[in-house]
Amino acid sequence: MAGIFGVASKLDECGRSLYYGIDYHCHLGTDYAGMAIFGKDGIERKIHDIRGENFRPKFQQDYAKMRGKYGIGVIGYDIQPVILSTRHGIFSVVVNGNILNLNEIVSNLQSRGSSFAEIQPDSSISPAEVLAEVISRADDIESGIADVFNLIQGSVSLLILTRNGIYAARDRQGHSTLVVGKSDNEFAVTTETAAFPNLKFSIAAELLPGEIIRLTENGIERRKEGSGKAAHPCAFLWIYTSFPATSIEGINVEKARYNSGTLLAKRDKAAGFMADIVAGVPDSGVGHAIGYANESGIPYARPIVKYTPSWPRSYMPSDQSMRDLIADMKLIAIPDLVHDKRIVICDDSIVRGTQLRNMIKDKLVANGAREVHIRIACPPLMFPCIYNQSTRTTGELAARRAIRMMEGRDVQDISEYLDTKSPKYQGMVETIARELGATSLMYQQIEDMASAIGRSTDEICTFCWTGRPS
Ligand code: SF4
Repeated sequence: MAGIFGVASKLDECGRSLYYGIDYHCHLGTDYAGMAIFGKDGIERKIHDIRGENFRPKFQQDYAKMRGKYGIGVIGYDIQPVILSTRHGIFSVVVNGNILNLNEIVSNLQSRGSSFAEIQPDSSISPAEVLAEVISRADDIESGIADVFNLIQGSVSLLILTRNGIYAARDRQGHSTLVVGKSDNEFAVTTETAAFPNLKFSIAAELLPGEIIRLTENGIERRKEGSGKAAHPCAFLWIYTSFPATSIEGINVEKARYNSGTLLAKRDKAAGFMADIVAGVPDSGVGHAIGYANESGIPYARPIVKYTPSWPRSYMPSDQSMRDLIADMKLIAIPDLVHDKRIVICDDSIVRGTQLRNMIKDKLVANGAREVHIRIACPPLMFPCIYNQSTRTTGELAARRAIRMMEGRDVQDISEYLDTKSPKYQGMVETIARELGATSLMYQQIEDMASAIGRSTDEICTFCWTGRPS
């Protein structure tokens, strides 16, 4: 997962909007960030390692010196943007997504004489450079993007910075988004619409799946129609990944989270459930918890707060033990609000369950919580993502671990565990609750998750929960 942002300016000064626009993507899990601007002497590029550090101070000196009317940038896990000098001229590329058959494409290109220079810290080849190479071999940039879409398994959206503007292309399944904004002197394209309001951009268009546009200082040129397929945005964008102020396909993230909490509370209310307070695991659990509290009538409280002065952003290093350490260090319990309370905790999802288990044990039970009831905004995660960048593997998922404990081995056919009415599903949820040390655990039903978002299950990607590709 990465956040990508581009600006085309009527003035020669796209740097300021680009700098702040990229910064609004810092919550997307960051190792590296970069920006590239097409100036009068060609493309100027800056890339920094921002693991554990903030984007803005790292790039503050850079952006002030970078001049030009077109610019692109990225925050993510790879070293980007890449720059290629080709027969189509010099251009720069940033990508958001995951290419499952990258090695196959690389071997094919290498057998046809290509070599790759932009090696990543783990010695792998840069996906952005591979796609740039595919594009460079085509007759023109647009055909090159079409070739990329035809070649890859997985899903990528990309921005290409050229002398003549910025090409933007949304992934063919519409798992991720690209939205165009307009201000007095600029056009911008963004992964997250939360980047727009404070920079005075209003939304001008959302790209369709597979659509290619070119953005210049004069506006949007549609260069290739979309794939004709309906978008299937990643449901996790609403449940967990995106910033609350962002909207995807016109549906606001915070509103979807609020609805999700409401639907969880309705099920608890119907069962006569009662507790003393409701809380959300900061930050993404908070919207769900407020919806739950308002629907249930159980007061919202903050028995656990996030220490923001030194953890100002939701930094997600790729190393899992580091993630667990950061999750532990930045959440602080308030014993006065915990002691002797029956507490409902809303969270977005359970991946491995380690952070939730530690939080229950060390911050709630240790401070005298009477009961801890966990409410999760999506169904049990059963399959690793095949479309976006996610480090999950099947074996580490809490639900799969529970199945293994129940069956005594890994099983291939998990269909009974996907059926929420089956005894096996109930047994799995109870096993996970026991492992977490929770008094009770309830997951969102998949239909309710879709309904909270405002779409049917056929109109979002649900692969993580169902194993059905979209
Ligand atoms: S598989 Fe899961 S994380 Fe990946 S796009 Fe689909 S819903 Fe999102």
